[in-house]
Order: sequence, then C-alpha cells, then structure tokens
Amino acid sequence: MLRGNESSWKLETQCVEKLLHRLKDEKNLIIAEVVHDDCGAVDVILWRMNIDSQKCMWHKAKTLVKRLREAVRGTKTVKPAAVVACEHVREVKCFTNKELELWLESKCVHVAGVSTRKKDELVEIVWGVLFPDEAGKALRDDVVEIDALQTSHCNAAEEAKEWLYGACRLRERAKDDDGDVLATHVQHLADHWAGDHSCCDKELSNLCKAAGGPDRDPLYEAGGRVHLAVARCLQQFSSNTKMECYTRARMTFNNECFHSVINKYATKVV
Ligand SMILES: [Zn+2]
Ligand SMILES: [Zn+2]
Repeated sequence: MLRGNESSWKLETQCVEKLLHRLKDEKNLIIAEVVHDDCGAVDVILWRMNIDSQKCMWHKAKTLVKRLREAVRGTKTVKPAAVVACEHVREVKCFTNKELELWLESKCVHVAGVSTRKKDELVEIVWGVLFPDEAGKALRDDVVEIDALQTSHCNAAEEAKEWLYGACRLRERAKDDDGDVLATHVQHLADHWAGDHSCCDKELSNLCKAAGGPDRDPLYEAGGRVHLAVARCLQQFSSNTKMECYTRARMTFNNECFHSVINKYATKVV
C-alpha cells in the first residue's frame, strides 16, 4: 500500500484513537499498555483512556542514526560567523537554540513557546525567514547529512541499529533490566568503530563480529574529532536514563509502535 506524501505521524494519532476505541468498545478488549514513539498527541489519548505506554525501539534506532549523522556531519561543517551567512540547513544547525532564538527576535519574528521548541523546529523557522520561498515547506534532506555517517563505512547506519537492538537483546537474555549496563554497551560502539575492541568482550563479541569484527580497519582515528563526536552523541542519546525505557523489564526491545507499522506496510512515495 502506498499512501502518497502524507506524513505518517498525521495518520498515527487518528488511527490510534479509532483503533483503540474499536478494540475497547466493539471487541471488549482490555488494553493495559501501548507502545508508541515519543508522540505527545498519542500520549494524551492513552492517558485519557487510562492506558500505560512504552517507548518504541524502531523509533529509537531511527533517531539514534539521525543523531549520529548529525554528529559526524558536525565535524565536517564549519559554523558561519552569523546566522544570516548560512547557505545550508546544516550550517543553521551549528547554532544553539539560544542563538537562533536571539536571531529570530532581532528579525522581529516572535515564536510562541520558543524555549520549549525542538532544535529541528527552530531550524525550520529560521530557514523560512532566511529563504522566504521555502517557508512552511518541510526541510529537504541534506545530502551531506545522509552521507555523513556512511562516508566512514557504507554500512555504518545499519550497524548502529543492529548494535542497539543487539545490546537490548543481551539485557533481555540476561533477564536484567539495568539501564546502566545497557547504556554502557550501546556507548561501546564508539570505541568499536575506532578499532578499540577492549570492551567487545565475551558478552559483546557477537555484536562486534556482526559490525565488522576486530580485524576490520577502524572507521575513524581513535581519539580524533569523529571519535569524540560519536562518543558524545551516544552518551547523550543513549544515556542511562534514556536506556531505562528499553530494558527487558519493559520488553520494549522487541516492540514497535503503530507508526512504525504504518511506515513498514504503507511506505511513503519519495
Ligand atoms: Zn515507533
Ligand atoms: Zn569490537
């Protein structure tokens, strides 16, 4: 099934609400818990219906790869002296939220709830002010961003996803819901890619093998700019508190949200 250009998150909220009501009211099903991405709108529906929620692994993997791409690309992009000098979206992203906020103010663009906006939203607004022709349109995928990770290895994005899933499965098998162990395992990927396999011990040896093994050439120099950027990114987005939501106790490692199912079975036409 193809669904044209409509974003799946617009469909998600309506579909989830309809589906849940049908399951509850027509089929008399008791629903204790639903897996979803960090979607605030869906959270509200669930909360109203008194249903617990878990986070979706598919989305976690997808976001992690996106963040890794940004981090690696960041090592190749030079921040322009001023916002107005930006010619690429990736350059706008070099500025902090605060800097973008101040720049928007200087242009008399007032954005509601600016301090709670996500970076991507701010970048989109700034981009629309810089290039009014593109205002309101979704940001085009930045080719450099897509390539950033794969320039080090063509399979790096896939490896990152597999590593994350693999680390979660290890916790499941160990019947251990310790978020700290999981976070540490995920973060070892930065060293593995740098050719330092001292942490790819017994437990992680299969993950190591699946991601090129110890004999493959390092993807980047150990201790270099890219290594530090990848390590910092993993620390931030696979922190102990974040990984707590993906341990065995909650079984999330294997669960996927409605949104990911829409994406798999109703692929967007690109
Ligand atoms: Zn999801
Ligand atoms: Zn390794």
